[in-house]
Amino acid sequence: MKIALLARNPELYSHKRLVEAAQARGHEIEVINTLRCYMNITSHRPELRYKGEKVSGFDAVIPRIGASITFYGLAVLRQFEMMGVYTLNESVAIGRSRDKLRSLQLLSRAGIGLPVTAFAYDTNRIDEILDIVGGEPVIIKLLEGTQGIGVVLGETRSSARSVIEAFRGAKVNILVQEYIKEAGGTDLRCLVIGGKVVAAMKRQGAPGDFRSNLHRGGSAKSVKITPEERSTAIRAAKVMGLNVAGVDMLRSNHGPVVMEVNSSPGLEGVEKATGMDVAGKIIEFLEHEAAHGNTRTKGK
Ligand code: ADP
Ligand code: GLU
Repeated sequence: MKIALLARNPELYSHKRLVEAAQARGHEIEVINTLRCYMNITSHRPELRYKGEKVSGFDAVIPRIGASITFYGLAVLRQFEMMGVYTLNESVAIGRSRDKLRSLQLLSRAGIGLPVTAFAYDTNRIDEILDIVGGEPVIIKLLEGTQGIGVVLGETRSSARSVIEAFRGAKVNILVQEYIKEAGGTDLRCLVIGGKVVAAMKRQGAPGDFRSNLHRGGSAKSVKITPEERSTAIRAAKVMGLNVAGVDMLRSNHGPVVMEVNSSPGLEGVEKATGMDVAGKIIEFLEHEAAHGNTRTKGK
């Protein structure tokens, strides 16, 4: 196959591993810088240009679109879809997963366990919002946050209220969530590929931090997950329409609850913690699926 890796930085661990894994399996793979692609979106025959040349002959594309360039990145990926190139994750599915409220609404409709979550535009009814999620302590999250930045624990009613007022005063969107204390600063990351959990790790926050993000100084180790956790991860990825997903869950007193579903899961933490060749599994999945061109939306 000829594969395009749509990514900005070829030096990232995940991107290097995908290139290695593709080459090891005999494929040709080219890193295409998402932001350097340009196109005539109205051309009758959809095309994409890169470094002065037409992008052509690709069988599959692996999108690794960073959260900060979602809007442009998805337009580029859609163009690949319009050209009939198979994509590992479809633009529509990535778009869903990047919108936290939309994701939670879809997961909730599918009956997947979630932390009780509330959302409001104005701050007139903060007390009601806090009551909806069961009262303080609560978690307050920026809708646009990643890597644990913008996730705050409001321990008392007055601190929760101040944080919410400050965020809303700065015109940023937030959600308010039940604090799953029993998770004890840990979470589960399940790597789902093609409807199977291929690796799972438990992340533990730095001492004293309730956030378990590796970027915030957390550590990770391989973990055995329960059948319920496994099926929750698989269903969450399916609801989002993602072939490859990193499903983050908390172990709550009322079973696994999904925090978020990532469409470009980082490979470093999970490969190092579990010893699994996740990049190889991704390429293997592409080999099966790209050949059949099994796409749901083609960008529609
Ligand atoms: P980000 O997308 O920025 O990583 P998350 O929603 O994943 O934000 O939250 C970061 C971390 O904070 C999680 O990995 C988890 O450890 C902790 N956390 C998030 N939500 C909750 C919650 N409702 N209860 C307890 N801990 C939480
Ligand atoms: N790479 C990020 C992670 O694994 C997620 C990126 C995304 O899909 O938003 O947590």
